[in-house]
Amino acid sequence: MSTAFVTGANGFIAQHIVVALLEAGYKVIGSVRSSAKGDQLKENLRGKAFDYVVVEDLGKKGAFKQALKSHPEIKYFLHTASPVDFGTDNPERDFLIPSVEGITDILTTVKDYGPQIEKFVYTSSVVAITYLDRPVEETASEESWNSITWEEAKLDASRGYRGSKTFAERAAWDFVKKEKPNFVLSTVNPTFVFGPQAFESEVKEKLNETNQIINSLLSLKATDKAPVFGWTFIDVRDVAKAHVLSLQNPEIENQRIITSNTRFDSQLVLDIINKEFAAEYAGKIPTGNPGVYQKIGPTFDDKKSRSLLGFEYIDIKTTIVDLVQQVVNYRKRSNL
Ligand code: NDP
Repeated sequence: MSTAFVTGANGFIAQHIVVALLEAGYKVIGSVRSSAKGDQLKENLRGKAFDYVVVEDLGKKGAFKQALKSHPEIKYFLHTASPVDFGTDNPERDFLIPSVEGITDILTTVKDYGPQIEKFVYTSSVVAITYLDRPVEETASEESWNSITWEEAKLDASRGYRGSKTFAERAAWDFVKKEKPNFVLSTVNPTFVFGPQAFESEVKEKLNETNQIINSLLSLKATDKAPVFGWTFIDVRDVAKAHVLSLQNPEIENQRIITSNTRFDSQLVLDIINKEFAAEYAGKIPTGNPGVYQKIGPTFDDKKSRSLLGFEYIDIKTTIVDLVQQVVNYRKRSNL
């Protein structure tokens, strides 16, 4: 049983990664910011080969030193934790500095205190690859980089987040090139991640940043104007699978793996909800302009990633239905 370490193990994506790793036969140690969060996750994973360590702030120097010293059995390191607080009014302090310093410090710690570690997988993002507002005609691939500057990234939270993912991923590749550690690096670069929480107990009134985009449609009134948004999406369970395959597939070394399924837009999501949840939502949320969809954002040339992963992605209908079903269950349970 090989041991994998997952940072930010209680996060939306990370919980699915932990579940997928356990199902694939790994022993998992996760880092969380408090024992309450660790205990909750342990409770959800009762009887499974999971344990946690508390690491309060990944921005602190040597944050993972003790965890690595105490667990010389760790063979794989998956770094998923990242500041994702879009409420910040200081993106440099809250996004840029902690994510860039954080990843460099973690890589240094893994090199120094985990010489037995074979693979380091960093959860980057497609925002490290391209801009959200590029035209449909523009193509982005595993070779592309978002050209955002540090100054631009300081301007607001949204640019701060995109900058943080870009600069952190660049810092990771630079580190490996310069420091030549024992481990090999690969990154998973997901697009908008939607889908169910790994556990029903994690479903709350407000969901994580990306699922909240879908959840917010459920609070609209039938007379509200349908909002317009869209891009490409990927199901959270496919992102988790991509992380596990990054450990297992020897060809996924020094690779950036884009995980991006088909395009979606708000109209398509409304159509799915109005049809599949007619009893709960038809006549209560907007219908918009059914069947009339928009293509928003650049096109991905992700043939290489899809071929390395070698599995079919979950379709948008399944993703939205599984997500909304959890919200419906939660609202019933809570008498809302
Ligand atoms: P979540 O907000 O659900 O999870 C973020 C995790 O990071 C949580 O465990 C959080 O801990 C932890 N964290 C945040 N700040 C710190 C910090 N300063 N020190 C230690 N831990 C911290 O987000 P997601 O699951 O959506 O995102 C996970 C990763 O995937 C991130 O790296 C994100 O950038 C990336 N990603 C996400 C996409 C998406 O669509 N969701 C798309 C592309 C990439 P706590 O719970 O205690 O706050």
